Amino acid sequence: MSPWRDDVARDEFCTLLAEILSSDDRRMPRTCPACKQSAIHAYLRADGDGQGTAWLWCSDCRCFLHEGTRIPAWWQDIDGIDPLKLVPALSALDALDEVRADIDLHWKRLSLRRTVSVVELRSLESPHEKPETWARFVLCSDGHVRVVGNTPNAKRYAEKITANGVPGPRGTYVKREAGLEFLQLLAENFRGSREWATRVF
Ligand SMILES: [Zn+2]
Repeated sequence: MSPWRDDVARDEFCTLLAEILSSDDRRMPRTCPACKQSAIHAYLRADGDGQGTAWLWCSDCRCFLHEGTRIPAWWQDIDGIDPLKLVPALSALDALDEVRADIDLHWKRLSLRRTVSVVELRSLESPHEKPETWARFVLCSDGHVRVVGNTPNAKRYAEKITANGVPGPRGTYVKREAGLEFLQLLAENFRGSREWATRVF
């Protein structure tokens, strides 16, 4: 197996880390700046006072970034990872890479807790009218999106206009089974449009 290295695409790794720390996007794995595979994983460890350490590594080409950083308030440490295994940084990478699937899942749980859980479809026929909620797209605890409507017709309408999914990246369509990703696209794609005022809880 090739050795871990941190001298490739360093600026891009720093940019990616900053993006992960500051945005609501908690998708993992991410695209590797060095080899372009979807194989970047991330792990943060808080040391107290909001400071801590970040690891960003590619399980494919084994490029990594290891940096002291401010840890965002939404981050939660993972119980099953022994902090003693995280020093020195290189052996930490082996330990972290072994449990990368658990770490990715941890990011997913954080994202379910922190981001869009409901998107509303409202009628805004006249700017003077109070908007009326027709239907809601709700993310349930099993990860599926359900449609709840005020009337059977409103529910049918909401079902119908999302039957083929919502426009996603690179000309794809993302279906309701995608759960959170579907809601995020729904909220983003229709933000500010007349009929689809979205409301995010
Ligand atoms: Zn890579």
